[in-house]
Amino acid sequence: MMEPCAVRFPPVGPSDDGALRHALPPPVGPSDDGASCLRRALPPMGVRRMMELCAFVERELDKVLHKFLSYGQHCERSLEELLCYVSQLRQELSSTALQGAPLSATLSLMMAQCCRKIKDTVQKLASDHKDIHSSVSRVGKAIDRNFDAELCSVVSDSVWESREKQQQQQILQMAIVEHLYQQGMLSVAEELSQESTLNVDLDFKQPFLELNRILEALHKQDLRPALDWAISNRQHLLELNSSLEFKLHRLHFIRLLAGGPDKQLEALSYARHFQPFARLHQREIQVMMGSLVYLPLGIENSPYCHLLDARHWTEICETFTRDACALLGLSVESPLSVSFASGCVALPVLMNIKAVIEQRQCTGVWSHKDELPIEIELGMKCWYHSVFACPILRQQTTDSNPPIKLICGHVISRDALNKLINGGKLKCPYCPMEQNPADGKRIIF
Ligand SMILES: [Zn+2]
Repeated sequence: MMEPCAVRFPPVGPSDDGALRHALPPPVGPSDDGASCLRRALPPMGVRRMMELCAFVERELDKVLHKFLSYGQHCERSLEELLCYVSQLRQELSSTALQGAPLSATLSLMMAQCCRKIKDTVQKLASDHKDIHSSVSRVGKAIDRNFDAELCSVVSDSVWESREKQQQQQILQMAIVEHLYQQGMLSVAEELSQESTLNVDLDFKQPFLELNRILEALHKQDLRPALDWAISNRQHLLELNSSLEFKLHRLHFIRLLAGGPDKQLEALSYARHFQPFARLHQREIQVMMGSLVYLPLGIENSPYCHLLDARHWTEICETFTRDACALLGLSVESPLSVSFASGCVALPVLMNIKAVIEQRQCTGVWSHKDELPIEIELGMKCWYHSVFACPILRQQTTDSNPPIKLICGHVISRDALNKLINGGKLKCPYCPMEQNPADGKRIIF
């Protein structure tokens, strides 16, 4: 007998159909690069092979970069020589003109030589530049040779050919614009939204502008804007259990410590800012107070030298981004980078699946444009929200086919419910309570 399908919460392994599953989005912390995505997605042997292929392409790329560099240097040298030659000639010409003397045969010869030299140099530079093209195209060929170019086999064209094509393109453009804003590339984001005639209103932009302004200041080790922001949002930050404000005050204090004995009084009086955090951060405050003893000797020569570690500044940027995003309702990673990272994990798996589907000639398996043929494990980090797969139809529910809770507590999709209606009545496929189909309630996860 099948298990009752009352709503079971979290994660369920890939083999467990018909239950709540966690829909993807993202991984990708700051340390998460493409290589680690690949590492997670491929078996160990596959990773080694993939790294070899990457290294191969990288070698070709290095050759091009080297050529570019030496070409650039050579170009500069040649032009410099030419300029020097021309300016010498110019001086001689102008002094001849000042003396009112006619143009000598030597000078005309020099001018003719100069013109020839310019022409030769430009020709030589142009042909050298052409040579670089062949190296660049070798990189392209190396990529084609070493990597599977058949990515299009796992892309469903129907995604972009549907009736909502324009709407979907707008969603994609919006995702790109949002990513650019989040990365602080404000002018590029503006330009793109203008070119794609996207209407990005100020309310949407404002949080990103604010975040970037503060982060930029933090990168320059200016704590003021972040402190002002943290103080004005103190209550909300405390509700989030954030220690951002304390950490900012601590950094300010540490900076005073680094100023040596001259800053002792200022540091002592600044310490009053720790008072509201005394209960939560007692230990850290004790450490800072203890460090004052060593101020005359210099903190850098004391057991407290770790306080001066530059990583505190990197940490504060991360803490600020995380807490401010949480408070403003933004994700730390943009939806675009999340999708990209998920794609890096999913793509190798999908390519394998596609090959298997083709080998066994069961092409009908993967036809649904909104759904992948299998679940792909992206790891705990990527669990954002739950989705529901109908235990009867074995399909993930959607807005047009939402999950419906029957009065007995069992949940099935609306399509399944409609199929099960018999003579105006519905018999639950699990318990099997008879009920009025209209009593089912839509569930929103
Ligand atoms: Zn039931």
